[in-house]
Amino acid sequence: MNPCPCGYFNDPSGKCTCTPQKIHNYLNKISGPLLDRFDIHIEVSAVKFDELRDKEQTEPSAEIKKRVDKARKIQSERYKGTSTSCNANINAEQFEKVCIIDDEAEQMLKSAFESMGMTARAYDRVLKVARTIADLDNSEVIKSDHILEAVQYRSLDRKYWGK
Ligand SMILES: [Zn+2]
Repeated sequence: MNPCPCGYFNDPSGKCTCTPQKIHNYLNKISGPLLDRFDIHIEVSAVKFDELRDKEQTEPSAEIKKRVDKARKIQSERYKGTSTSCNANINAEQFEKVCIIDDEAEQMLKSAFESMGMTARAYDRVLKVARTIADLDNSEVIKSDHILEAVQYRSLDRKYWGK
């Protein structure tokens, strides 16, 4: 979706002509229950031509795939013998067992939950995404860094630019 009706909010070009009220009304059209159904929402700014032409080396997809495969393998072993294939579709019972977080992560989750006015559904999604981030990090326990990253992927819960 666009960040505002004209599509240029926060764009370095400064071309956005929307009033704060207009942006607020626009964002409010997307209901919370709808947003709750997405695991991840992040803000991406428009790509500039120079960036497209930039030949600077980034991590090759093949390397990223290796990490993803590894995390997938951890999950298929974790859910062996069940109808679950990955963290995204765990049931309530599995949730309790696999979403183990340390004390620091617990504190972080609590403050994010309160400050962002998270719903129970959003809370579940954050923890499941954090579980996957922990898997990518080869960590049995979900740590505060994993929670922090997962919370960053809920940018529309924060709706910071519409306020
Ligand atoms: Zn705009």
